Amino acid sequence: MTDSPATVRPDRRAELAAGLARVRSRIAQACADAGRDTSEVTMIAVTKTYPAGDVVALAGLGVLDVGENRDQEAAPKAAEVAAAGVTPRWHFIGQLQRNKAKSVVRYADVVHSVDSVRLAGALDRASASGRDRPLDVLVQVSIDGDAARGGALPGSADPDAGLDAVAEAVAGAEALRLTGLMAVAPLGWEPERAFARLAEVAAGFRRLHPGAGALSAGMSGDLEIALRYGATHVRVGSALLGMRPTLR
Ligand SMILES: *Cc1c(COP(=O)(O)O)cnc(C)c1O
Repeated sequence: MTDSPATVRPDRRAELAAGLARVRSRIAQACADAGRDTSEVTMIAVTKTYPAGDVVALAGLGVLDVGENRDQEAAPKAAEVAAAGVTPRWHFIGQLQRNKAKSVVRYADVVHSVDSVRLAGALDRASASGRDRPLDVLVQVSIDGDAARGGALPGSADPDAGLDAVAEAVAGAEALRLTGLMAVAPLGWEPERAFARLAEVAAGFRRLHPGAGALSAGMSGDLEIALRYGATHVRVGSALLGMRPTLR
């Protein structure tokens, strides 16, 4: 008998279980330090560059939230995982081109990286025709205001990239559901400073959109600090699955 492609060897399963135990204990400690309950926090396993078998194995370990950042990789992986009879929640966390919206809405349950009114429109149209229920959306915010690196701009009146404009476009879209904000700490910034700034932006955002309380922030290297500043979703790749061959 040969293994189907979406399976892993026992040693890989053990490696993933060990990584998961370490990450879960870091999250538990960070929550304890911040006086928060771990039930408020969702860990998303960022499986980019890793095969479908790892996703299936993680599901077997109870990890049912999975993140990917490139449609070309995620679409076939999601199909392979589904063929193995496993249905995690797929979170799309990478920069997204409008011409990929149709593909992404077919497998993604949540898109974390919406940062323009035009992208919100493309996702709304794709979701209306390609899904039977609304797509959950987090608006990605730029913490340092550098639009070139992605992220809507807090406090900006830019009609396409201003945070308020993007959030309103998502909130008003029939086939999208605004659930919160996402950010990545900018290169060269202390995570402390980045997530403190993000917490301020999130507080203002929640006054306008009280139902959209999700805050997706924190990765392998800085999840403790993100949790201290209110993250509800941490996106963990290397600490869980191992170092990726290329950094992206
Ligand atoms: C790759 C990636 C992560 C995970 O990064 P690690 O440092 O491996 O935990 C989180 N968020 C985004 C947007 C990513 O692209």
